[in-house]
Amino acid sequence: MRGTVLDAFADRYAERTHGMTASEIRALFAVVSRPEVVSLAGGMPAVTALPLDAVGSMIGDLISRLGAQALQYGSGQGDVRLREQILQVMGLEGITGASADDVVVTVGSQQGLDLVSRVFLDPGDVVLAEAPSYVGALGVFQAAQAHVVHVDMDADGLIPQALSDALVALAARGQRPKLLYTVPNFHNPAGVTLTEQRRTEILAIAEAHDLLVIEDNPYGLLGFDEQVHPALRARCADRVIYLGSFSKTFAPGLRVGWVCAPHAVRDKLILASEAQVLCPPALSQLVVAEYLDSQPWLEQVKVFRELYRERRDTALGALVALMPAGVSWTRPDGGFYIWMTLPEGLDAKAMQPRAVHNRVAYVPGIGFYADGQGVGNLRLSYCFPEPERIREGVRRLASVIEEELELRTTFLGEAVAGRTRGGQPHGAGDGPAPNLP
Ligand code: PMP
Repeated sequence: MRGTVLDAFADRYAERTHGMTASEIRALFAVVSRPEVVSLAGGMPAVTALPLDAVGSMIGDLISRLGAQALQYGSGQGDVRLREQILQVMGLEGITGASADDVVVTVGSQQGLDLVSRVFLDPGDVVLAEAPSYVGALGVFQAAQAHVVHVDMDADGLIPQALSDALVALAARGQRPKLLYTVPNFHNPAGVTLTEQRRTEILAIAEAHDLLVIEDNPYGLLGFDEQVHPALRARCADRVIYLGSFSKTFAPGLRVGWVCAPHAVRDKLILASEAQVLCPPALSQLVVAEYLDSQPWLEQVKVFRELYRERRDTALGALVALMPAGVSWTRPDGGFYIWMTLPEGLDAKAMQPRAVHNRVAYVPGIGFYADGQGVGNLRLSYCFPEPERIREGVRRLASVIEEELELRTTFLGEAVAGRTRGGQPHGAGDGPAPNLP
């Protein structure tokens, strides 16, 4: 019958399939691709800043010279030349003790996340994850039917005491988390970075509780002050599994990432990956390897850093100038994202239709939690739009929030008086920051 969409296969799906839902970001795709909409939603890298002609001729030349290898199946663990180069890349973050044998090349770090979850998680297992957390990781944990317990963050990243408290509370219920999932640098979506002091504390807690740590670090080289924070994996090789990616330092379309893991785990990861994809794409791996060898790739990372810093500055400047009182936000030192907290009582998801009508898109905060938190939060990405569009997007968003506030004020029958312009950033250096959320 037309109009009724019945799923004839519903009674045959695996248990885990029922838990799969489109993420808040994916649901926005149709909207954000409309040219009149300023999208502050997706975290798409600015690939047009790449030297596309040089990359194009490099790829053409690669096929002529090494086509037989580039177009053939390869090793399940990934190309050995690329794995050697990955060691150099990780060396920039202080990881010096690893060998190419510890590295498994993946189809983006997203596949790395999926492999880790396949290797470690059974239905009902507990995963500790920051509050909020990367939506793609939550999707993976959900598909594994794991139970995510969020641990609070603030402007300095994951709060060690909150991690200790969560572990103690779980132990009291007889539960032991399988892993801690964390994005220490330029967090997606919170925009904050774990301080050096806290890195030490978190690793000490992990040691004391025999906790396995998944360090997801796609943005580590995109710090605006050029500071590279030493990876957790640099200090602790035997309980940290490190996920890396070329999506943000080169190009996400190539889908090349990696996992660096203790030896025994690495074997399981390779087996799980072979079951999924046989081998990572040979052509993409060769392109990355050739790019790292023949192009000034670190100079290009600098170009990206400067471009994103300019966009971050534009976004923060516009927020300070335009947001109504009661709105607050984080101040990222790198990466792509600003995490915003709306005035009390406002709901970012409920506000979305008004935002779309006003031609601006963001991602509502609830998508970054497994437990319904984040109603009053949203994520803004400044990585993709030109500065002028960012300013316009923030202007539109500010008027959407003002309209919502007016509506609420009218609804509550309160006086509109007393509202002034000028929200407050809550980032590093701005005094005590509220927890996220
Ligand atoms: N982890 C984090 C924190 C991310 O932000 C992303 C991409 N947005 C990924 C993993 C996946 O990246 P990719 O698969 O492109 O390497």
